[in-house]
Amino acid sequence: MKIAVYPGSFDPITLGHLDIIERTSKIFDKVIVLVAINHNKRAIFTTEEKIEMIKKVTSKLQNVCVEASSDLVSKFAKNANANVIIRGLRNFNDYQDEISLFQFNRSIAPNIDTFALFPSANNLFLSSSSIKELVLFDASIKGYVPEEIEEFIRETIKNRINK
Ligand code: ADP
Repeated sequence: MKIAVYPGSFDPITLGHLDIIERTSKIFDKVIVLVAINHNKRAIFTTEEKIEMIKKVTSKLQNVCVEASSDLVSKFAKNANANVIIRGLRNFNDYQDEISLFQFNRSIAPNIDTFALFPSANNLFLSSSSIKELVLFDASIKGYVPEEIEEFIRETIKNRINK
């Protein structure tokens, strides 16, 4: 069974993330979306909210599940018997980060490879932080986040940022 782990902050999940999850789920037997808990990174959404949002928008994908961990991603992947770590590659900045992350993960778990996917055209410039910016400037986030969680994302960001 080929298992992929797709780690990230997902603060919040965007249509860019979802596109990567959907495409990955067609290739692997099982995809674990991993909400990486990083105590040094300030998040807007709680881990429970992130999990709930991801579960909601992936509920139709039978082979996708969601977990959270504060462990190293490669350690988590090893314990989950995963073969591959999935990353999205939007631009040169992502590339620079990902290549060192790849070497780091490989040194910990040599048998786990990293696959990078390019975003679909609509999502090339989409990031979780751009969602926060749009909400703060009262701009629409329609078309950038899954419709069923759009309202929750907007209200939560509005209520929590700068407070
Ligand atoms: P960000 O990098 O926006 O803070 P995450 O840490 O949640 O987001 O990202 C998890 C993974 O998803 C990373 O590999 C990142 O490059 C990828 N990713 C983020 N946004 C997109 C997008 N719009 N299209 C494709 N991949 C993306």
